[in-house]
Amino acid sequence: MRERNLKKPEPLFLSILASFGLLAAACGDGETDASPPEEGEPIQVTTTIAQIDDIVENVGGEHVDSTPLMGPGTDPHVYQASHGDVELLEDADMIFWNGLNLEEQMTDMMDHLGEEKPVYALGEQVPDEYILEDEEEAGMPDPHIWFDIELWSYAVEGVKDGLIELDPDNEEEYQANAEEYLDELQELQTWSEEQIQEIDEESRVLVTAHDAFQYFGDAAGMDVIGLQGISTDAEYGLSDVQNVIDEMEDRDVGAIFGETSVSDSAIEAVIEGAGQRGHEVENGGTLYSDAMGEPGTEEGTYVGMYQANINQIVDALK
Ligand SMILES: [Zn+2]
Repeated sequence: MRERNLKKPEPLFLSILASFGLLAAACGDGETDASPPEEGEPIQVTTTIAQIDDIVENVGGEHVDSTPLMGPGTDPHVYQASHGDVELLEDADMIFWNGLNLEEQMTDMMDHLGEEKPVYALGEQVPDEYILEDEEEAGMPDPHIWFDIELWSYAVEGVKDGLIELDPDNEEEYQANAEEYLDELQELQTWSEEQIQEIDEESRVLVTAHDAFQYFGDAAGMDVIGLQGISTDAEYGLSDVQNVIDEMEDRDVGAIFGETSVSDSAIEAVIEGAGQRGHEVENGGTLYSDAMGEPGTEEGTYVGMYQANINQIVDALK
C-alpha cells in the first residue's frame, strides 16, 4: 500500500469489497486507492449515469477528468458494478451518483466509498417536497429527476458545490461554468415548453415502457402512463398491458414510446393487444429515459438527449 493509505485504516471498506467478491481485483497491487488530486492534475471523477457526467464535464471543464460507468442503453435500476467499475470508483478523487434508489445495486458500495472520499448523491440536493413517490411502491422515491429541468438544476448546484469543496482554488471558474450551463438548461426549458404547445391539449399523453417520465410529465404538462413501474426490475404482467390499452382507448391515444434502456417487448405487447381490440396504436419511436446517446453525438449530451425526446414526442403526437 502506498503511504497515503496509511493515514486511514479501511477495515470496513475492505470487508465490503470482500463481500462483493472484488477484494482481489480492487486491491491487487495496492495502486488503486484514491488520493487527493495532485497540483495541476485534473480531478478524477467517477459518475454513474451519463446525465450526471454531462454536468461534471460542463461545470468542471479542464479541471476534471470524468468517467461515467453506464453507457448508452444501460439500465441503471439493475446495473451491477463490474471489477473495472470498482477500480474506477476506487481510483476516483470524488464520485457523483444519482441515488434515490436509481442505482439500486450500488447503494451499499456508495455508502462505504463515502467513508473514504467525497461521494455525492445528487438526488439528495433536491428538496424533499419536490421528490415524487413511486406510484407502485409507497414510500419509495421516483429517482428520474433529470427530466424536470428545474429539479436537475439542483444537481448542477450540487456538482458545483462539491467541486469547490474539493478544489477551492478554482471556485470562480466552477461558478462561471455552472452559471453558463444553467443558462443553457433554462433555454432548453423554454424551447421545450414551446414545442409541447404544438400538441393538442387532449393529446398530451405520454405512454412509455416504464415510469421514467413522471417528472417530465409534471414539468411539461403531459399525462404519463408507464407500463412497468418506476424501476425496471419488476416484470409487467398481462393486466398491466390491458390497463394501459384501456387507458389509451379511453383517452384515444395513438402512440406508445420505447426507451433505449428498456426492451421493446413491453410496448410491442401493447401495440399487438390494442390491435386485437381494434384500437390502432403506433410505435412513436424510442426515447432516451435512463441512458443517453453515444458519446460524441448530440444525443450523448444532456441538452441533445432532451431535445431528441421532445422532437420525437411532438412528431408522434401532434
Ligand atoms: Zn428508470
